[in-house]
Amino acid sequence: MNAMLAPELADAVDKFGARYDTAQNLISECAAHDWARIALVMDVSGFLEDGDHWYATEAEQVLAASNYEAAKRMFTEECGPIGGAWDDTGWLMYDADNPSAVAVAERITGALHGYPILDEEDHSEREHAAMIEEIEGSPLTLPDGVGGEDVLSALDFPQLGCITMDMVEEALSGMGYVACSDCEEWLTPMDSRRGEPLCRECALEESRPVETSVVPIPGGQPWQARTVYEHGEPLTAVLTPYLDGYAAKQGAAYREDVRAIVRGSAQGYRAVYGRAA
Ligand SMILES: [Zn+2]
Repeated sequence: MNAMLAPELADAVDKFGARYDTAQNLISECAAHDWARIALVMDVSGFLEDGDHWYATEAEQVLAASNYEAAKRMFTEECGPIGGAWDDTGWLMYDADNPSAVAVAERITGALHGYPILDEEDHSEREHAAMIEEIEGSPLTLPDGVGGEDVLSALDFPQLGCITMDMVEEALSGMGYVACSDCEEWLTPMDSRRGEPLCRECALEESRPVETSVVPIPGGQPWQARTVYEHGEPLTAVLTPYLDGYAAKQGAAYREDVRAIVRGSAQGYRAVYGRAA
């Protein structure tokens, strides 16, 4: 086998090739492509990589993927389809004796030394898509009918990798959404009333009165007993007029209202104070 690494590639492998078998793998690739000498496209700090490696930040990963795909498009345009004078194995390799391939590789490396992005439009599209994914993938479930795109356009100067849940929540509150105080459901209150807004389910949950009962301790003496605190059934009948009326009109129920209604009701009074009302 007389396949070999171009001298500058041999140097680069020494310098940047972390894997012990890098040189051997490249020589095999070279022979498999029937090239006499093989070279890899370089960026400013080493081999141009495809974005599937480990990166410190998502922004770096998106930049790498964008540059790599742009470089592949340049090779396709100048040197024909993949597998001829060039190929892709996570690094861009090419026939070091093919003048057009050498010229494209030099053009790419030269461009990257001047400016870190090969294709501005491709890069900003990828960045945009990654930010939408970041918003939609956050633990915060977005309201029905609101997408990552809507939230992104409501953010001031969003940056990939720097969009926090607080920022998303703030953007949503700017769009009129307020989270239920007890669960993740989004509410759209009519006005900015103070208090703790609740969704219908959580308002009913809040209405469950505390009930106590005294139960004997299993295996204990007859006089030994303990007090058990339990929540009774939601006071659905008591609360429904409020939920269907005022709360529906305001776009949210409020914990303060629910407590006042429960306290004022015959059922709630009896349950809370433990005697017949
Ligand atoms: Zn809720």
